Amino acid sequence: MKFLADGMLGKFARWLRMLGQDVTYSAKYTDAELLKMAKDENRVLLTKDFELYKRAIARGLDAFYVQGSTESTRLAEVSSRFGLTLEVDMDKSHCPICNTKLQPAPKEQLKDMLEQNTYTYYNKFWRCPNCGQVYWQGAHWKQITSTLAKAQQKKIK
Ligand SMILES: [Zn+2]
Repeated sequence: MKFLADGMLGKFARWLRMLGQDVTYSAKYTDAELLKMAKDENRVLLTKDFELYKRAIARGLDAFYVQGSTESTRLAEVSSRFGLTLEVDMDKSHCPICNTKLQPAPKEQLKDMLEQNTYTYYNKFWRCPNCGQVYWQGAHWKQITSTLAKAQQKKIK
C-alpha cells in the first residue's frame, strides 16, 4: 500500500514515513495533479479537503478523509482504517524528508558528521541514501513514542 498526502498534511506525511509507509508529498501539487498521481501510481489519497476527497471517490480512487486536528488523532484514524502499525522500526522507516528507505549506518562512518555528545552517547544510526540525512533515537525520541502511545489509545479497536 502506498500513500499520497495533500498539501495540508506535510507533517503527517513525515510521521507515516517514519512508520515505514511509502508516502508521496509536496505542498506544490494541485488537486488535479493529486488525483492523477493517485490513479497513475495506485496511491491512497490522504486529504483534509472534503471536496477533494469526494472528487477522488467519485473517480473510483482509494481516498481517506483525515479529520483529526492533532497528529496522534490522525495517526489513530489512519492506522485504524488501513491496519498500520504504530511502532517505529527504524530498519523499515522511510526518510521523513524525502521518502527514501533508510539504511543502517555504521557509527564510525559518521564521526565527522555528528556532534561529539551524540557520537559518544548513541550507538545506532541510520542514513538516507538519497538526501544523506542521519537519524538516531535521540532526546526527541520520548516525544515521538509518547505521541504514538496516545495514538494507540485513540485507535478504534
Ligand atoms: Zn532522505
